[in-house]
Amino acid sequence: MLYIGCHLSASKGYTAMGRQAKEIGANTFAFFTRNPRGGSAKEIKSDDVVKYIELSEKLAFGKLVAHAPYTMNPCSADEKIRRFSRQAMADDLKRMENTPHNYYNFHPGSHVKQGVDIGIEFIAEQLNEVLTSEHSTIVLLETMAGKGSEIGRSFEELRAVMDRVERKEKLGVCFDTCHVWDGGYDIVNNLDGVLEKFDKIIGIGKIKAVHLNDSMNPLGSHKDRHAKIGEGHIGADALVKFINRPELKGLPVILETPNDMEGYEKEIKFLRENYSE
Ligand code: FE
Ligand code: FE
Ligand code: ZN
Repeated sequence: MLYIGCHLSASKGYTAMGRQAKEIGANTFAFFTRNPRGGSAKEIKSDDVVKYIELSEKLAFGKLVAHAPYTMNPCSADEKIRRFSRQAMADDLKRMENTPHNYYNFHPGSHVKQGVDIGIEFIAEQLNEVLTSEHSTIVLLETMAGKGSEIGRSFEELRAVMDRVERKEKLGVCFDTCHVWDGGYDIVNNLDGVLEKFDKIIGIGKIKAVHLNDSMNPLGSHKDRHAKIGEGHIGADALVKFINRPELKGLPVILETPNDMEGYEKEIKFLRENYSE
């Protein structure tokens, strides 16, 4: 089963997102847990949650992939930003329990001149503080393009963070095809090799979700500019092959391509047509 969707606006609640997903042929979706560029979170209404869960069961939706705000930087040099980051993640994980057993994806962060090692320590520290046994949500570290001082540009960096976290069972990885490509992993000519490497360093089973994006830039560019499926340097063929990998089947696939709803509907249709059960 291909679980595929895109980012939807959370402003009207879960049920509205569920209906919008259905309209475009999606059976999962992503959303920002709070204002992506700010920090405020909207109140979650219990009747909306009840209605949404009913709808998602009826439509056999896959797991949702919530996204932390971009303003979250667990390894900022500024203590105030790190504190916000912890509080926001702790609060998000509490709120996620309204819709249990889904995914929560975040950008590990940018170390900004402090160096990778200190960055890794700060990220792990945050995770050790906010992850508890009561949460059913799995927290995903996103593979990053390596723009600026982003941590997570290599599988080794993600592994180094994960190694330092006590509750490893609460952790996974969200594999972003544009970011991995921009990070220098050739998923076009050597997908076997890239996945083998991932398996050796982190473990293929740790990939819990996919961000499916084409890239406006060539391999290893560290730019992080997403392109529509088939309009970038990765290309439609490689992305179709990617979602058809037996190791990755059944994972929620989220499009983060520069599209309006009509564009997403088309991409979803195209990918479904090119997916073999
Ligand atoms: Fe992201
Ligand atoms: Fe992404
Ligand atoms: Zn990106």
